[in-house]
Amino acid sequence: MGLFQKLFGDGSPKTSKDETSEYLFIYSKCAKCGELFRNRIDKLYDVQVSYEDGGQSYRAHKELVGGRCRKIVVIDLEFDQQKHLVAKEIQNGQFLTREEYETAHNANAAPGKSA
Ligand SMILES: [Zn+2]
Repeated sequence: MGLFQKLFGDGSPKTSKDETSEYLFIYSKCAKCGELFRNRIDKLYDVQVSYEDGGQSYRAHKELVGGRCRKIVVIDLEFDQQKHLVAKEIQNGQFLTREEYETAHNANAAPGKSA
């Protein structure tokens, strides 16, 4: 487990958490070429207040362009008033869990393969 932490951690003991009150990590994959994306959504800067549907909520919009193809992966996130993620949508790609992302990322970065 110590080695595992060294590989994926950045020195902080809290890196295993994907959502905090300050940020959220989103893992996704391009539907066309399979390129992996990991995005850190900053709840202070990336999230915009929205007054649709009569109530106050928060939304974030991301457009991801990978290096392998020209498809734009579009991500829309919706948060409640406490800025907890309540809904997410993706176009031209699919969401991954952190485990799926790390597994796929490790496979891509396996020694002996030059990507
Ligand atoms: Zn792509």
